[in-house]
Amino acid sequence: MRYHQIIVVGGGLAGLRAAIEAKMQGLDVAILSRVHPVRSHSVAAQGGVNASLANVPEGKEDSPERHAFDTTKGSDYLADQDAVFAMTEDAPIRVIEMEHWGCPFSRTPEGKIAQRPFGGAGFPRTCYAADKTGHALLHTMYERTVSYDIPVYEEWVVLSLIRDADRCRGVVAMNLQTGDIDAILADAVVFGTGGSGRVFGRSTNNIISSGSGMAVAYLAGVPLKDLEFVQFHPTSLFGNNVLISEAARGDGGYLRNAKGERFMEKYAPKAMELAPRDITARSIQTEINEGRGFPGGYVHLDLTHLGAKRILERLPAIRDIAIHFAGVDCIEKPIPIQPGQHYFMGGIDVDKDAASILPGFYAAGECSCVSVHGANRLGGNSLLETIVFGARAGKAAARYLAGLQGGTGNTPEGRKLADETLERTVLQINRIRRAEGPEDPSDIREKMRSTMIEQIGIFRKQDQMEDALVKVKELQDRYTRIGLRYHGLKYNLDLLTNYELGLQLMLAEIIAKGAIARTESRGSHFRTDFKERDDANWLKHTMARYTPDGPEMSYKPVTITKFQPEARRY
Ligand SMILES: Cc1cc2nc3c(=O)[nH]c(=O)nc-3n(C[C@H](O)[C@H](O)[C@H](O)COP(=O)(O)OP(=O)(O)OC[C@H]3O[C@@H](n4cnc5c(N)ncnc54)[C@H](O)[C@@H]3O)c2cc1C
Repeated sequence: MRYHQIIVVGGGLAGLRAAIEAKMQGLDVAILSRVHPVRSHSVAAQGGVNASLANVPEGKEDSPERHAFDTTKGSDYLADQDAVFAMTEDAPIRVIEMEHWGCPFSRTPEGKIAQRPFGGAGFPRTCYAADKTGHALLHTMYERTVSYDIPVYEEWVVLSLIRDADRCRGVVAMNLQTGDIDAILADAVVFGTGGSGRVFGRSTNNIISSGSGMAVAYLAGVPLKDLEFVQFHPTSLFGNNVLISEAARGDGGYLRNAKGERFMEKYAPKAMELAPRDITARSIQTEINEGRGFPGGYVHLDLTHLGAKRILERLPAIRDIAIHFAGVDCIEKPIPIQPGQHYFMGGIDVDKDAASILPGFYAAGECSCVSVHGANRLGGNSLLETIVFGARAGKAAARYLAGLQGGTGNTPEGRKLADETLERTVLQINRIRRAEGPEDPSDIREKMRSTMIEQIGIFRKQDQMEDALVKVKELQDRYTRIGLRYHGLKYNLDLLTNYELGLQLMLAEIIAKGAIARTESRGSHFRTDFKERDDANWLKHTMARYTPDGPEMSYKPVTITKFQPEARRY
């Protein structure tokens, strides 16, 4: 049986940053990741990462407090403000640290890190490396991991947490190359397992953003928070939903309907195309729904007025994506776009040190809900969250280890517990691996995704959502009778994706129940039958706890320190 002081699950930015921090504190830490770290979704991030560096003349007045205000207002006041301040105050430190570690940021003429305007931000605050910021950050972070000689269990998937009544003691994971399932004891576990975008259709996320990390934590008794808040990005390519970064609008792109009108002036006359994502996505969808879109359901993102030089310098990847995936050169023609599922504001409930209610278990990045994004995340705050709370998770885990009473998990008692969890998990996985039922899991997956995007999407309504919940329950029932096409051990992706499908159906149920219960509109959760925000009743976080009969829902207060809720106008 293996043992490490700390196991970090996830090779994206949050996981790698947590592992580096633990290693810097002198601990034995290992990373475990379903894919090679640089294939994590973080690599696909385009637009940038926020920090109030005040590097450009238009942003001279910027400060962590102003960043905190924009973030809180953007969150529709659901963010916990102590956590928001922790993030915005750490932001300049973490971004400059990435610069010192070698991240090739774009530069101002004076050689400082360049900053571009982003939606919902009062100042140009988004630091970027052209439109490949995630690529630049993740490769820098991975090089750092290599230089620290941190071992990586590559292409291993965590299936369950090992825990007793008092604390987390490790993970049970499957080696995809062999199909072997093993227990890894650890004194602390950090999850940086990313988002759950693929529960929805029309997602900008990579196919591995399955949400299995959230579900594994949930099944081990750690509550999930605010799962009904799902971000729909305004601009993904029509038809295949490859993301077109907000940087395109930050750099001056226009949104136009089929009549050629810049329709954002109706919805956000001051901020225009740089209104926050929830408002912009709804505006686009309204234009489409009311017949002012193009046939099939899209509008145009027009960059032609920016000129070839600016596009080639600042948006080269956007141009490549539009050429290869839409057959459009954006120097000459507008890009057809539609909103797409993009980000989970909710996730594993943790505090500002990334700690959950289960001692020894931490989560950071998109899988977690601190909550800094509340009901709507601002662009550029997610990459930031990964490096800020990744580092905080590593620190907090190290502190926890230093104070651990009762020694390490690598004891006969710990090993016995691990054996039991391993045995249970193997039984469960083998049941799925050998499944020969009549139901086709890919059909169940497609129905889950289309139900979620169509009935619990940008616009939501009671009867639609209730119907979606009934469908999800039916799919859960059909799932008990699935059949797999491949029953082997090695690289059984049929097993992995269908194991995950069961978990995703569980998340879908939580999302539906949270959204049905929340009879208000706030941030990304917009109900056509309850159009107003209702602070008197709903200024609170939704908590979902696992029970064998389905999620048990409860609520938790929002931490408000400085900014009193007010109406959001842009
Ligand atoms: C196309 C796109 C563009 C974006 N652009 C921006 C942007 O410009 N600015 C911004 O702030 N945000 C952006 N975002 C959001 C941001 O990139 C992500 O939220 C963030 O990178 C997530 O990082 P992470 O470390 O939490 O997870 P990820 O990078 O998603 O990594 C998750 C890791 O967990 C591992 N994993 C998952 N489950 C398991 C399991 N069960 N067992 C083992 N390993 C597991 C995976 O292998 C992977 O290594 C963008 C997102 C997308 C999809």
